[in-house]
Amino acid sequence: MRMSLLARVHVAVTATVLALTVGAPTATVAQQPDIPSPEAFFGHPMGADRQLVDWDRLVAYYDTVGALSDRLVVERVGQTTLGNPFLVIWASSPENLAQLDQIKSRNDVLSDPRGHSQAQIDDAIANGKVVFLQGYGLHSTEVAGTQSAAEVVYHFATRTDAEMMEILDETVSVLVPGMNPDGTNIVTDWYDRWVGTEYEGAGPPELYHHYVGHDNNRDAFMQNTVESQYVARLLFREWIPQAFIDHHQMGAYTARIYLPPYAEPIRPGGDPLVWREMSWYGAQMAYKMDEHDLPGAIGAAIYSGWGHFGFHWITPFHNIAGMLTESASARLATPLYVHPDQLQGSRQLPEYEEQTTFPNPWEGGWWHVRDIVERQILATFSPLELAAKNRETVLRNAYNKAARQTRRGEEDAVKAYVIPAEQHDPLTMQKMVNKLLLQGISVDRSTGAFEHEGRAYGQGTYVVSTAQPKRGVVRWLLGRTFYPDNSYTRDRDGNPIRPYDMSTDNLAEFMGVHVVEATTPIEAPTTRQMGLVDPSGTVATGANGYVLDGRLNDAHEAVNRLFTAGATVRRAWRTGEGFRQGDFIVSADANIAVVRQIAEETGVDFHALEADAAGSTYPLSRQRVGLFQRHYGGNMDEGWTRWLLEDFEFAYATIMDEEILRGDLHERWDVIILPADSRGMMVNGRGDPSDTPPAYRSGFGDEGVAALEDFVENGGTLVTFAQAGDLPLQDFDLPVENAVEGMWGNEFWSPGSTLRMGVDNAHPFTYGMPRDALATYLAGGQVYETVRGAESARVRRLATYPERDVLQSGWLLGEEAITEKAAIVAVEKGEGSILMLGFRAQHRAQTHGTFKLLFNALQAQPSDMSAIAAGGGD
Ligand SMILES: [Zn+2]
Repeated sequence: MRMSLLARVHVAVTATVLALTVGAPTATVAQQPDIPSPEAFFGHPMGADRQLVDWDRLVAYYDTVGALSDRLVVERVGQTTLGNPFLVIWASSPENLAQLDQIKSRNDVLSDPRGHSQAQIDDAIANGKVVFLQGYGLHSTEVAGTQSAAEVVYHFATRTDAEMMEILDETVSVLVPGMNPDGTNIVTDWYDRWVGTEYEGAGPPELYHHYVGHDNNRDAFMQNTVESQYVARLLFREWIPQAFIDHHQMGAYTARIYLPPYAEPIRPGGDPLVWREMSWYGAQMAYKMDEHDLPGAIGAAIYSGWGHFGFHWITPFHNIAGMLTESASARLATPLYVHPDQLQGSRQLPEYEEQTTFPNPWEGGWWHVRDIVERQILATFSPLELAAKNRETVLRNAYNKAARQTRRGEEDAVKAYVIPAEQHDPLTMQKMVNKLLLQGISVDRSTGAFEHEGRAYGQGTYVVSTAQPKRGVVRWLLGRTFYPDNSYTRDRDGNPIRPYDMSTDNLAEFMGVHVVEATTPIEAPTTRQMGLVDPSGTVATGANGYVLDGRLNDAHEAVNRLFTAGATVRRAWRTGEGFRQGDFIVSADANIAVVRQIAEETGVDFHALEADAAGSTYPLSRQRVGLFQRHYGGNMDEGWTRWLLEDFEFAYATIMDEEILRGDLHERWDVIILPADSRGMMVNGRGDPSDTPPAYRSGFGDEGVAALEDFVENGGTLVTFAQAGDLPLQDFDLPVENAVEGMWGNEFWSPGSTLRMGVDNAHPFTYGMPRDALATYLAGGQVYETVRGAESARVRRLATYPERDVLQSGWLLGEEAITEKAAIVAVEKGEGSILMLGFRAQHRAQTHGTFKLLFNALQAQPSDMSAIAAGGGD
């Protein structure tokens, strides 16, 4: 539905007024001849049509303005993934900037009042400053953010109006003017290359973060990328600001800007004041939009409060008002004409018409990046004005949020999450502890063995109390999670509405770490874990070399390093004296200095092997691994896989269509990985090539499919994740079907959940896995069943969903569609095999609990795989 005629007339009138008062905030910028405006510096206003300033020039501007202004401190906090400078800009009064340490001390008291006196708390409220972090340009094709930030910084440096002076005196702004500087350059270069051609405004063909692309906002709880680590240090450990805003863009055809608060449903367990603060700030932003005649602002719609654990959705559980703005997009920097008929509703905006949270619909027409820049600047400063005028209230509530969450934790049914020292993969457990520490969570370590609630725990068990300010983060990272199933998550016909992203973000479940809920306080003696855990492996030399535990993910990294060092490594296909099936055996002649260094750096113990294991092992060697990358649009699952392979030091090469089409793939590759992707994108390429330059349309076609089949027939190993399994399923004539093909909604639904599966760990593809594991299952995943009985001998089920209680965390409808069906199959074909993982075992490099399902496939396989795999397991 479209807006009424009356409303259109109204908007038409205000649009005229708008033209006269464009960028109202700039009207109050005083003349400061020393400090160049962005327009003077770059030669055009920020957000001008077809003008994007790249990161290098933005950095030059910030350095220039930072050197001239005593209201700014421009800090280089480190390098990005591709080596660009990552900046943080501190903006406040010169007096405040001169005493940031003292401001930080007071902020520390309020964000974690444990152990502080009432006098210290009162002092922090009376004399502290509101700390407010805002980030721009996390998603690089959402081009306005980095451009707006330059003008925001100019406002801070030059405005002398009363509102700005109060903001400078009462608040400290921490600005991250480019959350992904690499991507700003990637997109700017791409845009500039095609501007003025028929492909102007087309999306870039590569991920705009070297590894993770758009998923760079799904990383705040794991912090795999350096960019996430820089921001997390500020937000979760060093400062814990009172508010955080992440400025983004959304689709082009609904409201002009989404502002806080979030829509329903919200994830429970945060302090209520956090949600009230988001409404408070959001109301101020929306109010200011209409005060300045910028139509199209909406709140409490479109973005639900239960999302992934990226920065803006995890910060509420750090007691930070964690907010998002989402402006309508143009076509990169190219204006977009939006016909009124194209404007439509969204979540909690059932029709594109006036409603309480959307009283001023935009009427359509040309939409420019400058329109976004103006809204982002206003969305930056209006909440700061509010916080500055209410400084003591904001600070008192910072204290209240932290103190009340701690008290609630004392009263919670779960008093603590216990992470036993005894784990299937203790090194991965220690990595998880580090990830909790990187959230600024308090973690204690037992100094001796103890018993609690009838369980025995060893020394070095970790205890995470819920009675701490970050109780909410603790609960969601370690506690079992059920996504709400109610009228907010079902449409009128009862069909489930897809969650924004995952329906659980349980770190322990993703990482395969066993965690126990304690319902009574832990009495055992513990010490607070201060620094990150940095395990160092031991080395004991035996007559026949060393044994590495095949259950450790890091054993694969150790083996990869041993290959580099030229050491001889074998793998045990059966359990023997001093080793287990799946363990790695390193020959005694390995260079001892290298062995010690690998043990030290990976944490993997090198155990002494005395017995002769030769008859129980097969040789390993570095495999030739090809990771398929399609041309168009980048594939985040591919990027994350690349990240993961590099993190564990697997050798691999990226292969694209041209390499597939060369044929005879078995001569050059041992293993080819197809990351999760649709068959259509791999085979046919871009569906609508009209906006894609020809070189980037991709698709290896039927010829490529035949080359891959030939690769397997000739002894290659093909690994497919999730929907990439469609390629062998449809093209290779396999006796396997996808049991959930075409199912959705109440028939079968599992969006981003952890599902229980039983693992047959007696196969080289599953060595080192526990018998009970969790699959991280996303929509689009596959579940396998065998067809054509006679040929089923070629199919081996490696993991199977149980007959009931499949869901561990998240959301699952239609469980019966997958019970007792296969989560993973290995299919023999000719001389080779296809490992089909129906879920993403390497999802976002977060699912440590199933990494080995990929890693094993990248190690050499025994020459008589099926005979060996039948040899009995553990
Ligand atoms: Zn975005």
